[in-house]
Amino acid sequence: MLYLNGSFMPAAQATISALDRGCLFGDGVYEVIPVYSRHPFRLEEHIARLAASLASIGLANPYAPEHWQSLVRQAIALQDYEDQSVYLHVTRGGNGERDFPFPDDVAPTVLINPSRLVMPSAEQKARGVSAISHADFRWLRCDIKSLNLLPTVLLREAARQADCAECVMFRDGMLSEGAASNIFVVRQGVIACPPKNHLILPGITYDLVIELARTHGLALEIRPISEAEVRSADELWMTSSTKEVLAIVKLDGQPVGSGAVGPLARRMDGLYQDFKHQVMRQ
Ligand code: PMP
Repeated sequence: MLYLNGSFMPAAQATISALDRGCLFGDGVYEVIPVYSRHPFRLEEHIARLAASLASIGLANPYAPEHWQSLVRQAIALQDYEDQSVYLHVTRGGNGERDFPFPDDVAPTVLINPSRLVMPSAEQKARGVSAISHADFRWLRCDIKSLNLLPTVLLREAARQADCAECVMFRDGMLSEGAASNIFVVRQGVIACPPKNHLILPGITYDLVIELARTHGLALEIRPISEAEVRSADELWMTSSTKEVLAIVKLDGQPVGSGAVGPLARRMDGLYQDFKHQVMRQ
């Protein structure tokens, strides 16, 4: 069951106009919320980021935060599995014309589609994953969680063809982020990540990792990171709502540090899991 424009219905009955601006132009934004044992994790933060993405593209938020939360909870309750990944998607709708400027008086398209949560496998957690690197050829508003995902499609396909889980991107010699994750490096016991700006998505997991590092007194620097620093790092992590904190142990075929999951990756994953379970018990 999914939610489309005001009602819950079976996926097979959910249809959107072929001339929806989401389909024609990718004119919309989205979110992905992890759900553990039917508890949505960091729901308020995801709804707030959706509001920010909508504001950035001049699309009026169709619902108040409390209504979004209620719809997400209803959608979760309707599924017959516990761990979910809830996809939210809002487009500028359509008026039957293919014209770039915003149309007048068009209702947005709102979709809420839960699916089964696919987490990293036990082996990926234990042994880490491999990544390739690539020039970041995306646009200059990567802070918006936009439906224009063609770069992500191409970058993740390149990673898949290289038998890798992620693609680490550099822009002008500096680390930006992963194709669908934020990237942290560890050098000499210090965790570092690039600052939030228009070149990266403000990750919900990124924020939580920073919060956990600060709460537990781990050394942390938020600053621009050069490609050379990434290539000589002791540890490299990717973070996202569905991958959580996952160690990258090989980059472009070269081992990262010792080539095994590092001590700080294990520590941060432990803190993350503890935090998650504590929140779920509340
Ligand atoms: N950057 C990009 C480009 C992403 O697609 C994602 C996944 N949403 C992230 C970072 C990580 O964000 P989050 O921790 O909110 O899932």
